[in-house]
Amino acid sequence: MIPDRTIAHHVSIRPELAQPGECCAWMEKAARRCGKPCDGILCPLHRRVAEKRAEKWAETERINRERRRAARQRLLPEWRAELAKITAQLAADQPLEMAAVAGNVHPSIRKRQLRGLSDSHVQKMARLAERAQQLRQQIGDDQ
Ligand SMILES: [Zn+2]
Repeated sequence: MIPDRTIAHHVSIRPELAQPGECCAWMEKAARRCGKPCDGILCPLHRRVAEKRAEKWAETERINRERRRAARQRLLPEWRAELAKITAQLAADQPLEMAAVAGNVHPSIRKRQLRGLSDSHVQKMARLAERAQQLRQQIGDDQ
């Protein structure tokens, strides 16, 4: 048998404060606690109500868990493709050597190098790196 304290929160407010020997279930219409004498903290009636609500909640959770799992499976290929694209973008944007930036190079190369050091470019790379980290976490063990 499930202990009262495990399911009491389905019929009671703050069941952790309940006194043994007195039903702690909240009765909405009467706007008071049940208070009937009992062995634990729920009378037989409120125990049945709590058990039914606990079962219903467990079933709802099981359905939601299955939906989330199915949605995750559907999205995994998308996440993997996005991660591969971002990883390639990040790899193509290797940090520039300051010596190379400071040296004498063709103006077009110099312009490209400086573009790589702009605030907006650095921010873009940071966003990509954060998104990649987020995707790795979402993909998790399925990587
Ligand atoms: Zn009761």
